[in-house]
Amino acid sequence: MDLELNETQRLIQRTARDFATRVILPQAHDLDETERFPREIMKGLAELGLLSINVSEGLGGSSAGVVAYSLAMQEIAAACASCSVMMSVTNMVGEAIERFGNEEQRARYVPRLASGELVVGSFALSEPDAGSDPAGMRTTATPDGDGWVLDGAKQWITGASYAGVIIVWARTGSLETHPGTRGISCFLVDAGSPGLKIGKPEDKLGIRASDTVPLELERCRVGGGQLLGGMHGGFKIAMMALDGGRIGIASQAIGIARAAIEESVRFAKERKSFGVPIAQHQAIQWKLADMQTELDAANLLCMRAAWNKELGRPYSREAAMAKLFASEAAIRICNEAVQIHGGYGYIREFAAERHLRDARVTTIYEGTSEIQRLVIARSVLA
Ligand SMILES: Cc1cc2nc3c(=O)[nH]c(=O)nc-3n(C[C@H](O)[C@H](O)[C@H](O)COP(=O)(O)OP(=O)(O)OC[C@H]3O[C@@H](n4cnc5c(N)ncnc54)[C@H](O)[C@@H]3O)c2cc1C
Repeated sequence: MDLELNETQRLIQRTARDFATRVILPQAHDLDETERFPREIMKGLAELGLLSINVSEGLGGSSAGVVAYSLAMQEIAAACASCSVMMSVTNMVGEAIERFGNEEQRARYVPRLASGELVVGSFALSEPDAGSDPAGMRTTATPDGDGWVLDGAKQWITGASYAGVIIVWARTGSLETHPGTRGISCFLVDAGSPGLKIGKPEDKLGIRASDTVPLELERCRVGGGQLLGGMHGGFKIAMMALDGGRIGIASQAIGIARAAIEESVRFAKERKSFGVPIAQHQAIQWKLADMQTELDAANLLCMRAAWNKELGRPYSREAAMAKLFASEAAIRICNEAVQIHGGYGYIREFAAERHLRDARVTTIYEGTSEIQRLVIARSVLA
């Protein structure tokens, strides 16, 4: 593994950092307060090629690779975690359609996701009664003439109020004939499809500017050409997409934690107690030392997973480890950042409390920490 970044990776990192600090960061506090969907920012990310980093150039993507994707995610997350999660899901959706779609599906969706025409892409796997265990999903897809009719409910879907296309997973085989994960397929559902109802946005602890909504599918009709990746092939698509998505969420956690450290360092150098900047107290120095060490460890795990994926090597276990460690480390780091800020860490005026709230979700979505441990343990025991 080469820890030296190449020219393309440095360029993407610089581009993302410049946009993040110049455009996103000045709005981050307000976006969190108002829970406003950052439409202009998503458009800007698309214009810079950051919504399609792993998509091939022929389909409008940047084709810059997984390491570059992780670096860009870190930069955007350091400024605004809400923007970064929608960036992550959109990249994941574009990549899944390029990989599993037929030529027509690729041509129809991937360039429009990359250019921002579809605003964002959404990934609708979770249901009210099936999160960690998607095999328990109840949404069904029934053949109807030359298409399909989808019925059911999805829960916690990021970006779906604004998404031009949503990948929706549904059961195409009954549990009796296709037990477990065997009878699941996935469908490309366009915004505004008849029978697709977008629910009220959730009122969340963190990532408040990212849209999170329930979906109702009531005799939602899609054409025959909307089946993605073949009949009953949906579970494999979900698992492969989530493996890659976990690198995205690990990167998000790293970005949030890095911002929390940078703010803590700034604050510790300015804030005085007992006549000296608090940065001179050894207790504060040790906190910062531990925070930075955890951040670097998270980054190395994440880079290994990204590197493996980029080279086409197995990376499922590495992505689970990166996501598990980075998300839990981010919560510890952000918690210490609040402590370093003292009372100022507890008020909205300072970003430390936002970082802690934003970091909290990273151990939950795209597989909870418990599920990452399950994935890792399975591979250790194999
Ligand atoms: C803000 C936000 C955005 C999201 N965005 C999306 C999205 O875009 N698309 C999407 O499909 N989903 C999305 N999700 C859903 C998310 O992926 C699920 O919440 C997550 O997978 C957990 O599922 P659950 O909430 O049903 O919890 P459950 O599965 O009910 O789990 C509850 C608890 O039990 C534990 N648990 C469950 N099974 C086991 C086990 N076998 N061993 C040990 N512990 C276990 C879990 O780790 C957890 O602690 C989002 C969630 C949030 C909060």
